[in-house]
Amino acid sequence: MYRPTIGLEIHAELSTRTKMFCDSANNPDETRPNVNICPVCTAHPGTLPVINLAAVRHILRVGTAIGGTPADFSEFDRKSYFYPDIPKGYQISQYEHPLIVGGELSGVAITRVHLEEDTARSLHVEGKSLVDFNRAGIPLMELVTEPVISDAETAGKFARELQLLLRTLGASEANMEKGEMRVEANVSVSSNKDFGTKVEVKNLNSFRSVERAIAFEIRRQTALIEGGGEVVQETRGWNETKQETFHQRFKEGSADYRYFPEPDLPKLFLSEIPELSREAIRTSLPELPWERRARYAALGLKANDAAFITASVERGAFFDSVVREFDGKRKPVALAANYFISDLAVDPGKATPTSFAKLIHLFISQMLSSRGTKDTLLVLVEQGGDPEAIAKERGLIQIHDSTALTAVVDTVLAREEKAVLEYKGGKQTALQYLVGKAMKESGGAGNPNMLHKLIKEKLD
Ligand code: ADP
Ligand code: MG
Repeated sequence: MYRPTIGLEIHAELSTRTKMFCDSANNPDETRPNVNICPVCTAHPGTLPVINLAAVRHILRVGTAIGGTPADFSEFDRKSYFYPDIPKGYQISQYEHPLIVGGELSGVAITRVHLEEDTARSLHVEGKSLVDFNRAGIPLMELVTEPVISDAETAGKFARELQLLLRTLGASEANMEKGEMRVEANVSVSSNKDFGTKVEVKNLNSFRSVERAIAFEIRRQTALIEGGGEVVQETRGWNETKQETFHQRFKEGSADYRYFPEPDLPKLFLSEIPELSREAIRTSLPELPWERRARYAALGLKANDAAFITASVERGAFFDSVVREFDGKRKPVALAANYFISDLAVDPGKATPTSFAKLIHLFISQMLSSRGTKDTLLVLVEQGGDPEAIAKERGLIQIHDSTALTAVVDTVLAREEKAVLEYKGGKQTALQYLVGKAMKESGGAGNPNMLHKLIKEKLD
């Protein structure tokens, strides 16, 4: 048996107004090339970088949220390499003194979280190579996990949880399709207690590709070894069409990046910057996804439901307003969760937390049947408005008035002679049939429990 080992390296573009070391705009949605640029991020000689503390703060918040240790002392390093997308000849990153060390997310141990600058984007069109510098210098988080993941699903789950955390913290939009979050998977297999040789898989631009690429690599490496071959350390890409990984380049095993502290930037003594102190960062954190799920579980929601609601920031915020409308009372919250998940979560349309909570109140007070609640909800989503007015307009408010219902029951019993006789003869199912007919006679507005009671009273 071969034991798979996976470690992830995840990059995320941080949401800041300006870039990492200059005041060019950080706008990942800009489509025109080379507009958000300046002499600093295009590496003109003699320019000097300035640290964007908003980016530092994002990393400290992410790191604190996952229980990592924020550095007291941190610094930036030059990572030297040559490529057209890195015109300085080096990338400013962090090496010896990352902002965060340790931590844990979704059961996976974190090695470190550090800050660096994104590179420019190279485009190859019609035999020409073009470089767009809009992305150059955008603040980039790099989070590295320990090699402790042992299957593709766990890796996918981790990456999803990280995306949710980044969005919850407002640290990054973290859309994988847009390259705002990029996952690299290191995969190895081994038949003994030592680690096997690892292969790094890049350009995975969806969670599904992450999972499939890892599963593919585990199969490929296992088959290779079983066939008497040997895994070589390399970087592989993911072919979405063929659903397989392919060789890109052999890992420059001893790639010498000549890391050394960036002399143009000041050292960071974080405890001396009040807004970046551990206390300031900790108190700035909102409720975190796992805290929200636990709170919902304590309110009586099923684990799956709590996870589904929490999985999107907007969905969670909507539902949380509903919870507040009910002062966190368990029964209405549980009911609301059911309707929310089945009819509202994907797109609440024009429904608001307040109007939705009102609707649930109508159901609880038996003014609406479950059918009537669903019908009203559909209108609420499409048109918005007041649920009671909507329900009234459509004749969905249940009739509890016994005089009105007695009239309905009399009409039905007079008409349904056969069923009445059957019931009197001992056939219990005839009663349900009569209740159904009475419901219909009332235009769906009769309260079924009351109708049931009235019919029984008349016949027994
Ligand atoms: P490198 O020196 O090649 O950058 P690191 O030790 O820094 O390697 O690890 C980089 C990433 O690879 C981390 O996410 C780590 O968890 C993962 N990793 C390290 N060794 C293995 C292995 N044998 N199998 C799978 N992943 C590994
Ligand atoms: Mg490394």
